Amino acid sequence: MPAGSSMMTMPLQISSLIRHADRVHGDVQIATAANGEVVHRQTWSDTHRRSSQLAASLLALGISAGERVATMAWSSHRHLEIYYAVTGIGAVCHTVNPKLFVEQVRYTMQHAEDAAVFVDLDFVPLLLQILPDCPSLRHIVLLEDDPEALRLIPTAISYEQFLAQGDEDFEWPGFDENAGAYLSYTSGTTGNPKGVLYSHRSTILHTWAQSLPDAMNLRSQDVIAPVIQFFHVNAFGLPCAAAMVGAKLVFPGAAVDAASLYALFESEQVTMSAAVPTLWQQMLNHLEANNCQLNTLERIVVGGSACPPKLMHAYQKQYGIKIRHVWGMTETSPLGVTNAFKAKHENIGEEQRYAVQAKQGRPLFGVEMKIVDSEQKELPRDGRAAGDIVVRGPWICREYYRSDAPALNEDGWFMTGDVGTLDPDGYMQITDRSKDVIKTGGEWISSIALENIALSHDSIADAAVIAVPHPKWDERPLLVAVLKPGSSAKPDQILAHFNGKVAKWWIPDDVVFADSLPYTATGKIDKKRIREQWRKQKPVKQ
Ligand code: AMP
Repeated sequence: MPAGSSMMTMPLQISSLIRHADRVHGDVQIATAANGEVVHRQTWSDTHRRSSQLAASLLALGISAGERVATMAWSSHRHLEIYYAVTGIGAVCHTVNPKLFVEQVRYTMQHAEDAAVFVDLDFVPLLLQILPDCPSLRHIVLLEDDPEALRLIPTAISYEQFLAQGDEDFEWPGFDENAGAYLSYTSGTTGNPKGVLYSHRSTILHTWAQSLPDAMNLRSQDVIAPVIQFFHVNAFGLPCAAAMVGAKLVFPGAAVDAASLYALFESEQVTMSAAVPTLWQQMLNHLEANNCQLNTLERIVVGGSACPPKLMHAYQKQYGIKIRHVWGMTETSPLGVTNAFKAKHENIGEEQRYAVQAKQGRPLFGVEMKIVDSEQKELPRDGRAAGDIVVRGPWICREYYRSDAPALNEDGWFMTGDVGTLDPDGYMQITDRSKDVIKTGGEWISSIALENIALSHDSIADAAVIAVPHPKWDERPLLVAVLKPGSSAKPDQILAHFNGKVAKWWIPDDVVFADSLPYTATGKIDKKRIREQWRKQKPVKQ
């Protein structure tokens, strides 16, 4: 015991979250939906009881501390139970992203050497495809009640049967707070996915920080619908944060189309939700097409990609729903910065307030951030100089799981791969992923800034700006646009929309039209594929 303090040193453990939710918020509900309708309800106390029982079943099965237990599942009350049961015995919960390419899913499960998997019926075909290549997988638990379903995968046991085997009087064990808890793989578009293993300590600290008012502002009266799935960086941490603050959780299951979500949000009186911008765009289209309102939704968290200002305007002005722009990544647990106004922003003009909101936000306490040049020299926090964003802190990745891939620079800061600015008030604004920056005549052009302008054009439904090679300027921007149905806007009309909004040399050289843009498994525009398609095809203007 270190000298110098009178305080207890209790390890920060994830099981303390579910025990707290049981004792203090025991009657608060967890609802699981299918196609927009709730099909199951239980309370935090039920979740605690069932998670403990499941933990006992896992121990009886021979799962030991440190072993990896995978989930291939949509968000649900059962996924929540697994999430607490696995980590509660000191094992590692690997939330497999089934939306990755099959070879990537295979790779992550082989790399993690998962000992067991909990699988939803929807992902059984995927599991069967990779099962012969995953010799470490000893146990399969099927998240399905219909006994007929077991015929599909006869070596599996059904979830309820498995859970019922556990001792109901199980007590959560104590162990080192630095033990591994959740394993998430990045969805990089180049190379194999890389694993990030969060610890109990990093998870609890992240959970505290994310619940604060200027972060996600979570409270016991909230009804939280994490539209983002568990397999995308642990649903932005919401399953843990909801237990910490005692909020109701509503899981949409597989149905994340706007109509199903709308029905669910209204019937369950959801107050808060989180997802990537494309999903909020679809919801907006639904609201506009059906002339309806979201009556209880107070605020939405938007992250994963830059939130276009036009989307913010629409939600805030037309529907009175506040947008909280956030930035983070798998390697930052995920929250790094969140965007809330300061007191000094209360009385500035509307346009200036939107300019503040378009930034990704301020670092949470616990995340140190700076921007550096190619020699790792710190750049000024003046809101203008753009450089590589590096971070450090107790919930930032130090090294990749079982990998030599470099994570830190020589000074011990994590290299995010994002490029951006920092202003004197601490707000960070991303200009690009470093590999998407357009380098023209020795200067950098932000593809995100150009995409936001393109998206503010009434005829454009989706947009990506990529660099195409240029003999004189090295690279020039090309706009790949998807037109709204019925629109026949011409390239010149679209390019004219950029006049006066950016320097002349920033304006894309040309516009090409696509029927749709490719997206990655985590909802980001797949610029690698767009570049592959257009860089060669599109002749440059001299
Ligand atoms: P992932 O690990 O899949 O969550 O991806 C992390 C990456 O998503 C970051 O490094 C950013 O490039 C991007 N990202 C996340 N949030 C934002 C945001 N609000 N604006 C722009 N890019 C974002």
